Amino acid sequence: CGVFGVYRHSDAASLAYYGLHALQHRGEESAGICVSSGDEFHYHRGMGLVKEVFNKDLMASLTGDIAIGHVRYSTSGDSKLTNAQPLVFKYRDGDLAVATNGNIVNALQIRHELEQGGSIFQTTSDTEVVAHLIARSSKDLVEAAKDALKRIVGGFAFLIMTNDKLLVASDPNGLRPVTMGRLGDAYLFASESCALETIGAELLRDIEPGELLVLDQNGLHEDRYTEEKQRKALCAMEYIYFARPDSDLNGTNLHAARKRMGSQLALEAFVDADLVTGVPDSSISAAIGYAEQTGIPYELGMIKNKYTGRTFIQPSQELREQGVKMKLSAVRRVVEGKRVIMIDDSIVRGTTSRRIVNMLRDAGALEVHVRITSPPFKNPCFYGIDTPDRRELIASSKTVEEIRQEINADSLYFMSAEGLIAAVGGHNEQDYKGGLCLACFDNDYPTQVDFKGEEKLGC
Ligand code: 5GP
Ligand code: SF4
Ligand code: MG
Repeated sequence: CGVFGVYRHSDAASLAYYGLHALQHRGEESAGICVSSGDEFHYHRGMGLVKEVFNKDLMASLTGDIAIGHVRYSTSGDSKLTNAQPLVFKYRDGDLAVATNGNIVNALQIRHELEQGGSIFQTTSDTEVVAHLIARSSKDLVEAAKDALKRIVGGFAFLIMTNDKLLVASDPNGLRPVTMGRLGDAYLFASESCALETIGAELLRDIEPGELLVLDQNGLHEDRYTEEKQRKALCAMEYIYFARPDSDLNGTNLHAARKRMGSQLALEAFVDADLVTGVPDSSISAAIGYAEQTGIPYELGMIKNKYTGRTFIQPSQELREQGVKMKLSAVRRVVEGKRVIMIDDSIVRGTTSRRIVNMLRDAGALEVHVRITSPPFKNPCFYGIDTPDRRELIASSKTVEEIRQEINADSLYFMSAEGLIAAVGGHNEQDYKGGLCLACFDNDYPTQVDFKGEEKLGC
């Protein structure tokens, strides 16, 4: 998912609209904006893309100068309007709205406790748990939010809004990114910096793990909700796949990081060929890096139809399988009679890779060598990246050679974890695993994940 927040700008809703539009790749299932005009909230949520959910009249009704917005993708079975965010509640004498990117691992456990105590939930979204924890506390908003954030375990970026305040928090490991910017006197918050760039805001900094920012009539107050020192573990998949190449994460530009991944791959697994191509859009940067490192020309071996959504955001396997053909075509004139190196970001189920390899062969490629900018994806994510069950993850049960056969490639190589950490860069020597979460590759989760009834809802 993607979140966007505005504190004190007369055009708050419009800024949220353009910000969410820039974050559209983070979720195409639903979109929502909630604005505070002081005494009341104005909000709208709907299924679909930002441009489909909002129109001119709706935007004109969203008056106010504090706003939070959300774009969502969910895992299967959970795609419905009641779960669209921001979630909005009555709170004391006013209102409360919450938008999250991420997943709370112990949400179900807390939810059962709250239900025992009489709470009635409106949604199946784990974000609602935090709203309940805040609403049930007798403390003031900031203290109540701190208590709530301390109770939850997971990877998350939270935007919490009342009639006159905005709170921004990141999980204790900094798994999910959120960044801060400025536009005139207004403060802005976004899952990725590309959303700030889009609206001409100045990028200030990323929110630190365990941080709680409070914006109210006194301005910006930089606080923390936990003093416990945890390992920093920013999601490696943000670098590998999820974030847009024009975004910066932790001070590192994503396009540059992916280019380094490509050249690292070339160092680890050179193969002679006539051209290098990348699966659009996420692997083009890496393919350019591989080409630069080897001197083998980068070519446009595939074209993506930009009017089809990202395959993995479509909930069912059947849709997913239909999606690939709608989405990618080989450029026959480029690959015909050629030995092709095909760079992709990850192999999850293996179906996409097999289709792409076969598509390149059908278009006349003589050889197809697959190079992946991540280690084998073996373990599910509990922190909000949509991954199937372990048994659907091809690398959890098959060796690299078995996967190579399954996807019909002439050769296959997965990036080493050390190579990935080096390519991402931007960390200190003493940072554990380069400050990254690599759990889906190495099973080393930065938090406890074995809660009773644990679910990977995610957002
Ligand atoms: P698969 O191997 O699952 O057929 O497809 C892998 C490719 O599709 C990767 O390049 C990745 O970009 C994307 N993808 C497909 N499904 C998923 C998924 O469930 N989670 C993630 N993170 N990426 C996926
Ligand atoms: Fe990201 Fe993988 Fe960690 Fe999930 S488990 S947060 S996808 S690195
Ligand atoms: Mg892909």
